[in-house]
Amino acid sequence: MLRARVVRRGVLGTALLLAIGTHAVAQMPTFETRKVTDTAYIFRYMGHQSLFVVTPEGVIATDPIGYLRPQAVTAYISEIRKVTSAPIKYVVYSHHHYDHISGGRPFKDMGATFIAHRNARTRLEALRHPDVVLPDVVVDDRSVLELGGVRVELHYVGRNHSDNSLVVLLPKERLLFAVDFIPIGTVNFRNMLDSYLPDWFDSLDRVLALEWDRLIPGHPYAGGRLGTKEDVRALKQFMADLSDAVRLAADQGKCWDQAMKEIRLPKYEKWGAYDQDLPGNIERFCAYWGRGF
Ligand SMILES: [Zn+2]
Repeated sequence: MLRARVVRRGVLGTALLLAIGTHAVAQMPTFETRKVTDTAYIFRYMGHQSLFVVTPEGVIATDPIGYLRPQAVTAYISEIRKVTSAPIKYVVYSHHHYDHISGGRPFKDMGATFIAHRNARTRLEALRHPDVVLPDVVVDDRSVLELGGVRVELHYVGRNHSDNSLVVLLPKERLLFAVDFIPIGTVNFRNMLDSYLPDWFDSLDRVLALEWDRLIPGHPYAGGRLGTKEDVRALKQFMADLSDAVRLAADQGKCWDQAMKEIRLPKYEKWGAYDQDLPGNIERFCAYWGRGF
């Protein structure tokens, strides 16, 4: 399941690049770091990205994004080192999926404390993957890191994509890092495996209630731009429209295959992964409207 995700993100990345021309493919570096504010940076490696926060007393990093590619972690650390020589104090996991959190050992060897939601630790303890560092500290509903005069808040906003997503809020910068459950202008991944309905909708409301203006996602959707609250509302509307359409189809006995073939939502046909993943999203809502989970 997780391996499939990595492969697919690679495919998505390729599609994205082809859409902007072969010239761009040659120019698009394997990885890059973008400064967003005086303290916040995005590190992108291929189709994954992480936030890191730099303070005079140390660095708060997030997802190592080193699944089956230790070179991504090496690049991540060397990119941080170009900005600061301050120690890397923390690594925060967005959720437990390997494609985002594998490969953290070099951070651990540098003395970083690993933080994740309590449910993430439970899942990772069950899986015991050799390339995944288990969290040292767990968060339940909320936790605050204060480092070098910078405040970083970790919020659990309920179950959505996984039962352990933590969002990272920089209140002064009004910046939010949220991974996988808010694809920007993009249809949800495949059949929304490891997802919780209807909790996901509540989760989006909880994100909207937080104080932020710009959202850093865990993948470079929509040309790599940052998200807004409008994007969160659009996703919620997409999922509501999809849910309504699938409910109707389910009541007509069209789930699974016929619904997956027939349902179209033209309003969203320009969204990323629409052709590829809409049938999977329909399958997920068929499960909900036939089984209530
Ligand atoms: Zn995920």
